[in-house]
Amino acid sequence: MTTDPRRHVPKVDRVVDALEGLPHPLLVACAREAVAAARDRVAAGDVVTEAAVVAEAEARVDALRRGLLHRVVNATGVIVHTNLGRAPVDAASLSAAAEVATGYSNLEYRLDAGARGSRHEHAGSLLARACGAEAGIVVNNNAAAVLLALGALARGREVVVSRGELVEIGGGFRVPEIMAESRCRLVEVGTTNRTRLTDYASQLRADTALLLKVHASNYRMVGFTEATPVEELATLGPPVMVDAGSGLVDEQTPWLGGRPDWLHDEPGIRQSIEAGAGIVTFSGDKLLGGPQAGVIVGRADLVRACAAHPLARAVRADKMTLAALQHVALAYLSGDAGALPLWRMAGATVDELRDRAALVVAQLGTGTVVDTEAVAGGGSLPGLTIPSVGVAVQVADADATLARLRAHDVVARIERDAVVCDLRTVDPVDDARLVSALVAACG
Ligand SMILES: *Cc1c(COP(=O)(O)O)cnc(C)c1O
Repeated sequence: MTTDPRRHVPKVDRVVDALEGLPHPLLVACAREAVAAARDRVAAGDVVTEAAVVAEAEARVDALRRGLLHRVVNATGVIVHTNLGRAPVDAASLSAAAEVATGYSNLEYRLDAGARGSRHEHAGSLLARACGAEAGIVVNNNAAAVLLALGALARGREVVVSRGELVEIGGGFRVPEIMAESRCRLVEVGTTNRTRLTDYASQLRADTALLLKVHASNYRMVGFTEATPVEELATLGPPVMVDAGSGLVDEQTPWLGGRPDWLHDEPGIRQSIEAGAGIVTFSGDKLLGGPQAGVIVGRADLVRACAAHPLARAVRADKMTLAALQHVALAYLSGDAGALPLWRMAGATVDELRDRAALVVAQLGTGTVVDTEAVAGGGSLPGLTIPSVGVAVQVADADATLARLRAHDVVARIERDAVVCDLRTVDPVDDARLVSALVAACG
């Protein structure tokens, strides 16, 4: 008598019939994997049932669905969270993008002349105006902006950089490597902690294309340090290029009604331009508060050279990004940038946050309102924290609770063995979601 336990391994088609929730080819892939795994188990001597194989296939479908790009609640207190999509884009900017992109548009067409136009005439020039610059263009991201600007303005020539600014921003963006990619010759000056005007001046040659300043972004030097400001570099002759990184349009933050303490010495784009920078590059989705993009603003002739370079075609921004960024630029120009999600979150008062936290605790029936420290994140302002408020829940196993919260699309953090949800980065419309996730994860 033979009992072949494999007879319990169902055919793939049978398993697929029991699945739902994804396009057919994906259900088939999940079913195949579950059947193959069951055959392996049988080969190892296990007995499997059809129900177990279907359950495993369903689990794979679930895992695949959960892996799809979707909205999550950021309760980490890191506002520009690199792994959670950086700055949220405001709904009005997205509507503007939808309005433009669901039909045809004047993307590269001048309606008055009935002739070809440029995609840089919209968001690019508005952002330039918002920053007090002559001209501007938008590309895919800031890494592309730096690559393009260096390639267009300094290919085959020398670019002078302080040794203190030869940084790695993260995600593989290293200044010396970008220089090499752009075929510029890097000329290092000064020391790691101190670089003076005379250090730059001593390296000037006929072949010097740019003096480059790079925002150190994710690290900070303290103590015996000295850097040369743009204003002084601009007296030397060659154009000064600033990779500003985070894209703070104006360090006086007029849209917040004044400069908050937590912004500390984060340099503004407008101030770099005023100080004489010839070209400034920055990200669209850090402290600008828009969609992923790289912005190049500055002197008209330099920006034109960037736009005309062959690389510009390879890294150009698409119409949806340009439409959303145009909306963001208009918000800055009208003084309404405080309504962008980034600035709404950053600008929420501790009292507002405390009220919301108290409500969450009341609905939860457990936990405490705690003072926390949120951060701007996204490679800006290391070590600078924004006073914030969260909900702390004491649990037996904080790591396990954090994992259960993630299963409900809430990303929180652990502090002193408690699970802490920082409310500064939670959209108030998501408070109810946060409560139900906490109930499910801690209950
Ligand atoms: C973030 C950053 C970059 C890279 O910008 P992306 O938009 O991520 O491509 C480059 N330089 C600096 C100084 C940065 O902070």
